[in-house]
Amino acid sequence: MQPVYSEFVEFLDSHGCDTSWYKDGQLWLDNNIIKAFKRGGQVVWLFRISVDDNLNVTVKKHSKNKGYTELETWQETICRNQDHLKEIESKSISLLHEYCINTDRRIINTNSTGKDSMVVTHLANKAGVNCETYFNVTTLDVAESNQMAKRNGFKHIYPDPQYGGFYKYVHNSGIIPTRFARFCCTYFKERPTVDYFPAEDRLLFLFGIRNEESSQRSNYEDITKNPMWGDRDWIGVLPIRKWTELDIWLYILAEGIEVNPKYKYGYTRVGCGIACPYYTKYTWVLDRFWYPYLYNRWRDILKHDFIDKNKWLVMNCTIDEYILKAWTGGVYRPEPTDDVIQEYAQYNELDENIAEKYFNRYCENGCLNTRGQPLKLKDKATLAMNMKMFGRDIQKFKCKKCLMKEFGWSQDQWDKQVCDFKNQGCKLF
Ligand SMILES: [Zn+2]
Repeated sequence: MQPVYSEFVEFLDSHGCDTSWYKDGQLWLDNNIIKAFKRGGQVVWLFRISVDDNLNVTVKKHSKNKGYTELETWQETICRNQDHLKEIESKSISLLHEYCINTDRRIINTNSTGKDSMVVTHLANKAGVNCETYFNVTTLDVAESNQMAKRNGFKHIYPDPQYGGFYKYVHNSGIIPTRFARFCCTYFKERPTVDYFPAEDRLLFLFGIRNEESSQRSNYEDITKNPMWGDRDWIGVLPIRKWTELDIWLYILAEGIEVNPKYKYGYTRVGCGIACPYYTKYTWVLDRFWYPYLYNRWRDILKHDFIDKNKWLVMNCTIDEYILKAWTGGVYRPEPTDDVIQEYAQYNELDENIAEKYFNRYCENGCLNTRGQPLKLKDKATLAMNMKMFGRDIQKFKCKKCLMKEFGWSQDQWDKQVCDFKNQGCKLF
């Protein structure tokens, strides 16, 4: 649950939504439902925000909305929760005193400019903790986050120069992050911090991790250790692990802690803009509105990657389906539609009845992939070679390895064959 700011309402407005219900300083956004507190603390459901598969945004009155008028302002909600906020603040400060005063460890506060880390930084200041605050430059942060880190004087941790930035890495490696292959978290987020500090230092990290965030995090205690640290003498302290999201926001509003503009735009997270495969259509519509340049640049990268790698054969989807949603991971559908085959045929200058033959082929010799499943042939050159050598009417295909064995070709000879057929103008390749 996070506050609804006028910026988010501006976004809804420009998508043609009726926002005449908006009142400054009293509404909350919770999983795409606009909510509010009635005087006394009862939560009421007001409007539902929906994004369809074509990224159209709509706002509808919630079925539970009975036309409430006596709504609490944020200030009134803060007042009603004053004792609770004092109590959690004092517990967190006690925890910081216990671990961070009179310690001989070097204290490192990691701050992403997100809401949780801003609260930790504020509490550490209040507790008089002598710490260094670092902002991890993922190279996928939007300008607002970078500027906020700079404004607050946070030191910077940069990724390993051998990877360059995220976009350079994607360009050079040709790898698109998906939900099943998140190289970016390791290369641009987790590893740089571990590599930055001398392994022999005795460190104490302050983290804004909260138990409520996920089932994995629900088991965390006050002190944590990251398996990536190995046998380094490092510990993590979690001063706000028991806070709820509402606690965080009420405390931020009560204390006047700086809010990253992304939350005001309607985002629930500030990290890794645009290209994180874990985001959903509710984030993509925000990206398209607030960061059109970055949004289009990323979709352009996805489009070129799709065409270059003939991903029609891998995903069974069209370019538009891929850049709109399918890129985040997994085969889009088990069989290609006519649209998919048509588009593949068009881009590869093939007749449709030939184009169809490239889809969902498996090695007839029973070869298996690394997961022990039948080996699907996704490489256009391999599929083309089958038809070139055995005729376009063949029904049974073989994998590259089996073909090379059958013809006694080395990798170099294979490459030369493919090259020769292409040069002869064979459209199959
Ligand atoms: Zn095979």
